[in-house]
Amino acid sequence: MSAQLHITPRVTIPDFLVGEVQSKLAYVDESIVRAHVASTGDRITLDLREQAEDPKRSELEEKVQRVVTSMVQGAFKPKVQILENYLDRPVPSSADPNPELLARGEMFQEAAGIFTVGPLVTRLISFFERQFIALADSFGAAPYRFPTLIPAKSLERVGYFRAFPHSLSFVTHLREDLDAIDNFAQHAACDEHGLNTPVDSFAKIQALLSPAVCYHLYFALADKPLPGGKLAATAVGNCFRYESVNLASLERLWNFTMREVIFVGPKDFVLQNRETGRERMRGFFEEIGLAYRVESANDPFFIGEFKKQAAFQSAFQLKFEIRAALPFKQSTLAVGSYNYHQDFFGRSLNITLPDGSPAHTGCIAFGLERMAFAFLSQYGLDAANWPDAARKFVA
Ligand code: ATP
Ligand code: ZN
Ligand code: MG
Repeated sequence: MSAQLHITPRVTIPDFLVGEVQSKLAYVDESIVRAHVASTGDRITLDLREQAEDPKRSELEEKVQRVVTSMVQGAFKPKVQILENYLDRPVPSSADPNPELLARGEMFQEAAGIFTVGPLVTRLISFFERQFIALADSFGAAPYRFPTLIPAKSLERVGYFRAFPHSLSFVTHLREDLDAIDNFAQHAACDEHGLNTPVDSFAKIQALLSPAVCYHLYFALADKPLPGGKLAATAVGNCFRYESVNLASLERLWNFTMREVIFVGPKDFVLQNRETGRERMRGFFEEIGLAYRVESANDPFFIGEFKKQAAFQSAFQLKFEIRAALPFKQSTLAVGSYNYHQDFFGRSLNITLPDGSPAHTGCIAFGLERMAFAFLSQYGLDAANWPDAARKFVA
């Protein structure tokens, strides 16, 4: 039996934090299956797996109050800077693409956040990829292939555990122990919640699933002078972010793919290329008739780090998101971002420029599934209605 819990937050959640708080509530307690914050910010509704009685109920409420207070108290409304606004570009579709994607076998859910896509979506993604690679080529970016696993040690060096602990995905293996392996082989079995295993089966965690692409380049460049003093690179890779009950169709996946164009070098080199990249993409988005806008944003830091880090990113204009319109839900979805990390990775990983100072880094990142999803939300699944370039590519 499911149940609801209504909470009045001790501090009202300002409108610019409603979405941010709502997405973090998913991580407050395992009993929460959905969290909703009223747009007025004065009411929180939690859908629970089962009816909660005291003391569980008050514990839950206390945890929620803690999250709200930590994220809201002393937070400043960021000045949202809009660099491009083409949200009113006319598009032919306002239908939810999900039912048709499922019906046509173009999308298949293996489990929450784990999806297979079919030939039409795959071809559409190749079409976008061709464009992203052309963008990379326009900078003479060197191609790389990065692993899907990322060492725990490396993530620790760049402070990832403190900033984004909630979305980490861990990798382990059985201990190299005959008894442990035999025991696992005989007893491992799934129930509806997951895999049950004998205690003490697993080795200590050495690796995780990679949450981003560009980190791997910085690790490869760590602890030495940057050859030539500047570098443009590109790669596509699997990325993993555990987004709990927020996982939803192709919009928010546990396992998704990202194409990045990455810049490492002096500050001006990185900032100028980020800007040039944005200008070049503007032309492409016009060609495919995408309704979107580009606006300042912040990374999804976890509760304790959120206020400070988000304010910092916003003050220094470190992140701009390409937010495409989703007409069927009158909202927008980040399909990519233009990022500048200052010398954070250069300092943390000791990547040095010829003058001995730490290198600056930045990246242009595109979420491939989201790109396709946003496009299909605006143009539908019938390629006859698509802009020329896309239609010809999939024909
Ligand atoms: P959001 O604000 O929607 O959570 P983000 O700000 O965390 O996204 P970035 O870290 O900038 O996203 O990642 C670059 C791109 O990767 C995003 O613009 C998006 O297209 C894609 N992306 C990020 N998280 C996911 C996800 N869980 N599922 C699918 N695509 C994602
Ligand atoms: Zn990046
Ligand atoms: Mg974001």
